Amino acid sequence: MKIAVLKEVAGAEARVAATPDTVKAYVAAGHDVVVVKGAGDKATFADALYKEAGATTATTNATAVKTADIVLSVTGGDTKLLTAMKKGAAITGLLNPTDNPKYVAAAAKAGVTAFALEYIPRISRAQSMDVLSSQSNLSGYRAVVEGAGIYGRALPMMMTAAGTIAPAKIFIMGVGVAGLQAIATARRLGAVTTATDVRPATKEQVASLGAKFIAVENEEFKAAETAGGYAKQMSAEYQALQAELTASHIAKQDIVVTTALIPGRDAPILVTKKMIDTMRPGSVLVDLAVERGGNVEGAKPGEIVTTKNGVQIVGHLNWPSRMASDASNMFARNLKAFLPLVTAEDGSFAPDWVDEVIQGAALTRDGAIVNARLKG
Ligand code: NAD
Repeated sequence: MKIAVLKEVAGAEARVAATPDTVKAYVAAGHDVVVVKGAGDKATFADALYKEAGATTATTNATAVKTADIVLSVTGGDTKLLTAMKKGAAITGLLNPTDNPKYVAAAAKAGVTAFALEYIPRISRAQSMDVLSSQSNLSGYRAVVEGAGIYGRALPMMMTAAGTIAPAKIFIMGVGVAGLQAIATARRLGAVTTATDVRPATKEQVASLGAKFIAVENEEFKAAETAGGYAKQMSAEYQALQAELTASHIAKQDIVVTTALIPGRDAPILVTKKMIDTMRPGSVLVDLAVERGGNVEGAKPGEIVTTKNGVQIVGHLNWPSRMASDASNMFARNLKAFLPLVTAEDGSFAPDWVDEVIQGAALTRDGAIVNARLKG
């Protein structure tokens, strides 16, 4: 089949959906690959490397997709591009279907199959295709490293002839994929690390990383995990208890990284202005949930806010793109694991429509919106 690799058009997106390594594998499997000029530039993958891997190049996204059976992208490109594609062809990427229904409608209208990678079911078989996990893992790492860079002091304990520096205290709120990596990173850097979550399963995970778990462990906590492994929206009573516990803890922290999300809802506010007022000058809050409304009151998307009492609130967007080379490598490998599900034995493009991974990811097919999550 013919595979096209897009140059990303969304704002400051620096990632690319295929690397020279994955292109080499596609070519070895007998596929034709066309990569848009400059697609990998921001992720350190020059055009020459793709050529060496066996790809041809195209000057624009529109020309690259014209004859492609499947288009690989990070964020889906613009809706106009969909009309330049062949009817029946597919595009894959983080398509943000819940917030971007116009894109889904445009894909249906163009007769294109749109595969939203964030909708791939999080089942064991699909772990190698799990873009959400591969990218969140890097975000969690980067949040701690950048938080440490902005925090003007050392993280580990240092005993020197000139005296002792006490270790920094880092608190991770939300222990999903990003939170776990944030804990591991904070520990590696020598900080005294604590973490909280509403899902009981995280307690053991936090302990296994050598951090201390802090949470309101009442009856509601014991039932806070959905069958899908995600957090439930907690009651107002629970949130009040959680805030009380958090307030006294946060006042003593140097860096707080928040990652708490609830599927289909705004992120819960976990750190209020009142709590921030009790923090020491120079402390840093890194809000990874800022794109979904934020866990920290006063966090601004894309900005670093300094409060009156000298606390910095980091609201960077698109953390994986800040590590474009590694993030692209992982994203590209996730896609390489996904592609066999749309490939027939003879190498032609033929999605396995009865496969639950394909059914989970497919938003549109033959001019219609087919995804159960969107229809439901
Ligand atoms: P997420 O991004 O949806 O949320 C991040 C974390 O925030 C979660 O741990 C959640 O419990 C927590 N949270 C929500 N509300 C909170 C609150 N009020 N206070 C504190 N914490 C709060 O999570 P994720 O990283 O996508 O992971 C969610 C689950 O999916 C985890 O159980 C993870 O292990 C699981 N998972 C499974 C697979 C797989 O089986 N293939 C792959 C990846 C993740």
